[in-house]
Amino acid sequence: MSVRVRYAPSPTGRLHIGNMRPALLNWYFALKHGGDYVLRHDDTDMQRSTREFADLIEADLAWLGILPGMIVRQSERTDLYDAARDRLIASGRLYPCYETEDELDRRRKRARALGRPPIYDRAALQLTDEDRQKLEAEGRRPHWRFRLDGKPVVFSDLIRAEQTVNTATMSDPVLVREDGSYLYTLPSVVDDIDLGITHVIRGEDHISNTGVQIEIIEALGGAVPQFAHHNLLTGASGEGLSKRLGSLAVSQLRADGYEPLAVAILASLTGTSLSVEPYLDLAAIAEALEFESISHGPARFDPAELDGLNARILHEMDYATAQPRLAALGFDNEPLWSAVHQNLQRFDDIKAWAEIVEGPIDPDFDAEDEEFLRTAAEALPPEPWDETTWGAWTSQLKQQTGRKGKALFMPLRRALTGRTDGPELKSLLPLIGRKASVDRLP
Ligand code: GLU
Repeated sequence: MSVRVRYAPSPTGRLHIGNMRPALLNWYFALKHGGDYVLRHDDTDMQRSTREFADLIEADLAWLGILPGMIVRQSERTDLYDAARDRLIASGRLYPCYETEDELDRRRKRARALGRPPIYDRAALQLTDEDRQKLEAEGRRPHWRFRLDGKPVVFSDLIRAEQTVNTATMSDPVLVREDGSYLYTLPSVVDDIDLGITHVIRGEDHISNTGVQIEIIEALGGAVPQFAHHNLLTGASGEGLSKRLGSLAVSQLRADGYEPLAVAILASLTGTSLSVEPYLDLAAIAEALEFESISHGPARFDPAELDGLNARILHEMDYATAQPRLAALGFDNEPLWSAVHQNLQRFDDIKAWAEIVEGPIDPDFDAEDEEFLRTAAEALPPEPWDETTWGAWTSQLKQQTGRKGKALFMPLRRALTGRTDGPELKSLLPLIGRKASVDRLP
């Protein structure tokens, strides 16, 4: 069977790392099965959805390495929803209701006071044509509810095994608002049928929607896809991630210089049996991750993990992988990469190290080391230099001055690089070269 999945964000804000979880899990599944990946902008909420947010979502996905084969916008597919609406009305599954929010609220309160569940009482089903005409003459417009079967809907979830949603415990859902616009449910179902979606992979907050959606799909005569509901990414103490969590917005993480792979690994492997560690690329994660690996508890994550993971990815990155990005920064230099990549926290830190190598740097030494550094300058061997030069030079200085350990190395490091820490000097020294080294020593 050919596989087709969809990722369906609402373009009403910036995506954060938690929204990347379904985006990635769908992508892995498509990669693994050679399937299609559809990006569906759920933009039926005209007030809150914007084209800018939709464009930003596409940019965020592209940055992660997700390139949808097809992009659709629900705002351009209203005809399909209208046709489905009319079929449901004709078959008696969609019925007009005239209650105001206040009326519904009062009824819910009354039900609670009587110890009954606050479920919509279907009073609108009792209205006669005459009643409806009267209400419409008063200026009321109907919203439309789907008449649920009111029975257990059982489906086999690919992550959470068999699930039962009893629609008898739910209010008939409103599918169409008074102004004729659609809530999320009907467009989602109609698109899943129309686009031939085979697998719906989304957050577990949608499990009860799934019960309702299966009933609607069946009412429309569509094929029911397979469902996989994953745990949601939460903060360290279990709190939900909101779109307003600016620092974890994907666009912000990108601006902060994190590796897309680090974001992808953290977003998708937290809360699974796989460890959060470097992978070569998204395809390698897709190979390793099974639905069974995804745990059923919350996926608590610590944003601080991102820094460590990001650094590990850079420390393990080979030159061939880094090369195009180095070239773009103007530092296409393999010895430089080899010397410093194990010290990078963010890729762009390479700029600072390139500047340190190329100079000029601010001289940095204490007065009490000046004599020692002068001796060191005189002892610098002639070029050509390689990785053995540092060892030969410092052994000689040790003998000559009696200094050893930190007292020997630290003044040299500070004078040569202007920093107290950094890459191994045996790799840096040949890059700095003899002339600059002489200049940096007093
Ligand atoms: N727009 C919905 C959401 O963001 C899509 C849910 C679904 O995948 O069906 O929650």
